Amino acid sequence: MAYAVARGVLRRTAKADASDTERATTLNAAAADPASLGLVLGVVAGGELLLELPPLRESWWAVVPLAALATRMAMTALWMSRVLPEIARLEGDPTPADERLASSLRYVLVALVPRYGVAVVVGFLLARETSGIGLAVALAAYVGALAVVSPLLVRLGQRTRVPTAGELERVRALSTRYRLGVDTVRIGAQGGAAMVSGVGRGSVVFVGERLLALPDDELAAVIAHEAAHRDHHHLAVRTATRLATTIVVLAVAVTVLDRLSGDTAAFLVGVLVALVAAPYAIRLVGGSVEVVQEHAADRAAAEQVGAEPLARALTAMTSGEAGVPAYGWLTERRLGHPSPVTRIARLGAAAS
Ligand SMILES: [Zn+2]
Repeated sequence: MAYAVARGVLRRTAKADASDTERATTLNAAAADPASLGLVLGVVAGGELLLELPPLRESWWAVVPLAALATRMAMTALWMSRVLPEIARLEGDPTPADERLASSLRYVLVALVPRYGVAVVVGFLLARETSGIGLAVALAAYVGALAVVSPLLVRLGQRTRVPTAGELERVRALSTRYRLGVDTVRIGAQGGAAMVSGVGRGSVVFVGERLLALPDDELAAVIAHEAAHRDHHHLAVRTATRLATTIVVLAVAVTVLDRLSGDTAAFLVGVLVALVAAPYAIRLVGGSVEVVQEHAADRAAAEQVGAEPLARALTAMTSGEAGVPAYGWLTERRLGHPSPVTRIARLGAAAS
């Protein structure tokens, strides 16, 4: 089934009238399709296990999320094995296919474990009939602990290294010159992206290896963008949004399914629709918040370092043979990141 989805998306992108970079982006954004499929199958498989093996029923709160995680990883692995070689070809990435598949799967697994961990914790507390307040306290503690260990998770998910003395000196000089408040970074071994992870003083800015080749003002603009995410507590807002949306969507799903419960067929269709639509809705709401945050971080970086160097850095980091990639409204929200063309256009509007 994952192969069929992969074949469909490969055929559609091959037909679309788009540049190689745009095709690669569309393929990346489509990774959510096999994920929802894996989730549906995982919940079904978990239910099946509970029916077949009654002793497991007491631990339903662990069985169902773990089955969902396992099938989701399996679907993602199958999907990636088909789609990653095409993305690598479009992006001109020379990394061997095996290595790319292994590092992508590791990245996905590290990102998913905490999310499924939430389901296990909530399920466990529900099974013990914990009160609403107890649930809220446990959720808050879980999210707080996750935020503290998140720089560690990033390092588990991808290869990173400490900066050399020269690199560190350069980052500190830029931080002083532009008042960025960044006294250390970690270098991400793969590629041209930067990110920030953690809370407050425990935050770590990760700078992709390729970014080190940028001129000083461009590198400073990129770091300023990440520092703005940190200073405006964007990660906390993201996590809170995801949790709140999840709770609202689940409440709506439970209410609707409750109404349908008299009619078995309608109920089962409802469950399937909810399993597919709920993650999609949560993703779109979260993605919309992230797009707004990206533009806000760009504005802050433009104020501190300049709109022009940031636009130059974006162009240098993202342009392929066909120029800077543009993608549509929906893709921006599915990826949780505005297209570089939109970002550069906004920066241009801010500068003039
Ligand atoms: Zn950003």
